[in-house]
Amino acid sequence: MHTHDLIIVGGGPAGLTAGLYAARARMDVVLLERLSPGGQVLTTDLVENWPGDVEGVGGFDLADRMRDHALKFGLDIQGKEISKLSIDGQVKVLATPDGELRAKAVILAVGAQPQKLGVPGEELLTGKGVSYCGTCDGPFYRDQVVACFGGGDTAAEEAAFLTRFASKVYLVHRRDELRAAGILAERVLENEKIEVLWSQVPLEIKGDNKVEAVRLKKVKDGEEYDLACDGAFVFIGTTPNTEFLSGVVDMDRQGFIICDRNQHTSLNGVFAAGDCCSKLLRQIVVAAGEGAVATYAAQRYLEDGHA
Ligand code: NAP
Repeated sequence: MHTHDLIIVGGGPAGLTAGLYAARARMDVVLLERLSPGGQVLTTDLVENWPGDVEGVGGFDLADRMRDHALKFGLDIQGKEISKLSIDGQVKVLATPDGELRAKAVILAVGAQPQKLGVPGEELLTGKGVSYCGTCDGPFYRDQVVACFGGGDTAAEEAAFLTRFASKVYLVHRRDELRAAGILAERVLENEKIEVLWSQVPLEIKGDNKVEAVRLKKVKDGEEYDLACDGAFVFIGTTPNTEFLSGVVDMDRQGFIICDRNQHTSLNGVFAAGDCCSKLLRQIVVAAGEGAVATYAAQRYLEDGHA
């Protein structure tokens, strides 16, 4: 069976940038993506901090352009999901439903997905009022009331986006200060349609066949009450898509992959890039940068056996 120089797993900004660099360097490379290329960017309405796009760029548009850019250099993108990574001597073996793929080096750019609240009603009402993507589901809530959970950049950005449709947006945050950065926090606090419910946590999402209310608890005095709403949007961070790598590469407590400054994981010849990595800042620009570094390090590894 053919052994590729490099297989990239994941087609978000990290994987597509790694693929662009590898294809342009004329490596024997394949990129595997289980859904369609783009990753979480596809669920972002407007990306305002991609350098050079002064007016901002739509998430969909940016993902398309990244894919087209990699394709222009001949990147082979295949729709496949990986269930296992194992080692056969120096060769890395990736299991897919249609059989195995082999490579001398691998870049894991498997990304992350929204974290769940873990309260009763959440799972049952997902798709029936519980959502993890304002960009995707916001238009369903025209002139309705929605509750958002979280206090980070995503929660701030999405709560502001939802005011385009909803008549009222509650932002429920477990502390009395937002984690979101400057301009995003300012937009929330200045928006008349948004009311921040400080220091409150959700206990339950209620409703028979659709969301009708969320049960909240005030952290400071323990008081509980039902907040009537039509939708519950959860923006409380991300969890990495790394379950299938458990025990294969070193990870931190939350399952994010630990890499060195050249994106090398604990496994020789296996690199990681983007939101699946353990780090301080998860942004498109960081993911793209790490994708480029990972490919360069993989090239070095293939040339002389170490990155
Ligand atoms: P995040 O920064 O990890 O924030 C998660 C928020 O959810 C925090 O406010 C946290 O509260 C809260 N939270 C966590 N678990 C909770 C729970 N079980 N119940 C209630 N609240 C909970 O996640 P994020 O906002 O998704 O951002 C992820 C990364 O993407 C960050 O690096 C962010 O900068 C980046 N990002 C950037 C942009 C942008 O620059 N335009 C946009 C979106 C995302 P505490 O504050 O109390 O911890």
